Amino acid sequence: MIIDKLRNEEETAYYNRQVLQCEPMSEINGKKFVYIRAAQERLMRFMPFIRNEFKDTEKRLGIIESDVLDISDMMELYRKNGVDFRGRLLLKDDARLPVSGSVKARGGIYEVLKYAEDLAVKELGLVPSSDHAIFSSEEYKKFFSQYTIHVASTGNLGLSVGIIGAALGFKVVVHMSKDARGWKKNKLRSLGVTVIEYENDYSAAVERGREISKNDSMSYFVDDEDSLNLFMGYATAALRLKVQLMNGKIPVSKEHPLFVYIPCGVGGAPGGISYGLKQMYGDCVHCFFIEPVKAPAFTYSLALGGENRHVDTLGLIPSDTVADGLAVGRASKLVLDMTGNLVSGSMTIRDDKLLKYQKDFYNTENIYIEPSAAAGFIGPEMLYGTEEGRQYLKDMGLWKYSDNSTHIIWATGGGMVPECEREI
Ligand SMILES: *Cc1c(COP(=O)(O)O)cnc(C)c1O
Repeated sequence: MIIDKLRNEEETAYYNRQVLQCEPMSEINGKKFVYIRAAQERLMRFMPFIRNEFKDTEKRLGIIESDVLDISDMMELYRKNGVDFRGRLLLKDDARLPVSGSVKARGGIYEVLKYAEDLAVKELGLVPSSDHAIFSSEEYKKFFSQYTIHVASTGNLGLSVGIIGAALGFKVVVHMSKDARGWKKNKLRSLGVTVIEYENDYSAAVERGREISKNDSMSYFVDDEDSLNLFMGYATAALRLKVQLMNGKIPVSKEHPLFVYIPCGVGGAPGGISYGLKQMYGDCVHCFFIEPVKAPAFTYSLALGGENRHVDTLGLIPSDTVADGLAVGRASKLVLDMTGNLVSGSMTIRDDKLLKYQKDFYNTENIYIEPSAAAGFIGPEMLYGTEEGRQYLKDMGLWKYSDNSTHIIWATGGGMVPECEREI
């Protein structure tokens, strides 16, 4: 039934009635909480360097983080569309994450910093506890210029890895699918990054990048489909969000459930964030992934019981969507293993709806986000506006807490889109 809807490009949802129960700060799916804490601590060590290199991180002293915004005005919109939806509505503004303006500034930048730190410890005698401002030195940049970082990207990951890689002095090669936006390629080339374009789809670019890098001992591949470092970099978002919600006096508990709706491509960003949120809030948080109807890779895998098939077996062409950041045909196996049993559901959205939400949000809040980043808005609509969604809430014992619930739309990108590219 759900498979038919996916094949027909209809909006649909897969609901998980057997979400794994978990304790905060425990071992979840084979990984202990220390993985996230180590990532957070590494990012803190790099604060002096990040602050030196990127002026837009000044406000948070070199921590790359975004605000949580109250977007209660958007509630009216849901009501106007007949969705009786209560609780508190917030937006996580990762479109305005410093350095690279998308959620990829969490994972991509973290992974490159880890690689650089590991190299410096091994080859330059760096002690992890020493002042990381030294990464801005000519000596360090010259050292890193011997090394090449490869990454495959639909756009934003390449941008993040390219910007941080160039700042550290690395040579960077970005393998991009042809449909990636021209301005992203230009921006990368202006930083001295090599951009290679691929005719066929994203998975092919990943394979090629992985292959080229494997044959070169002075090179490193940021593997969007299979990297625990990338994953844990994304997961640090949860630690910060917890502090932000506490500061905002927003309760999260069984009686005050937290719902998050995160756009999904290969699954790394939503997977890492959701994993982190489970480590923070256990069973009090409910995570939903959202994908375009043209590229429902994660939803498809969940519907197949975890089998990781490409959506071309449904006759879909993933690059055929305005959501270029989500135009992915196959989910990451690592992410399926780490979060497949943690997510409460995975939903799909049509392109026209993405553009409508993007526009409505712009008109309501005067904030630009890219089409991919608007996917999360369909979450509350699916849960409260469809019989199936309401049934799910009732079955899970969540319906009775509707008034106390907090819903976070995770807006994942758009901050760096040039003015002239903003079609709104
Ligand atoms: C990459 C991206 C996502 C999804 O991240 P994945 O790790 O591919 O699942 C969501 N939104 C935007 C804007 C992105 O660039």
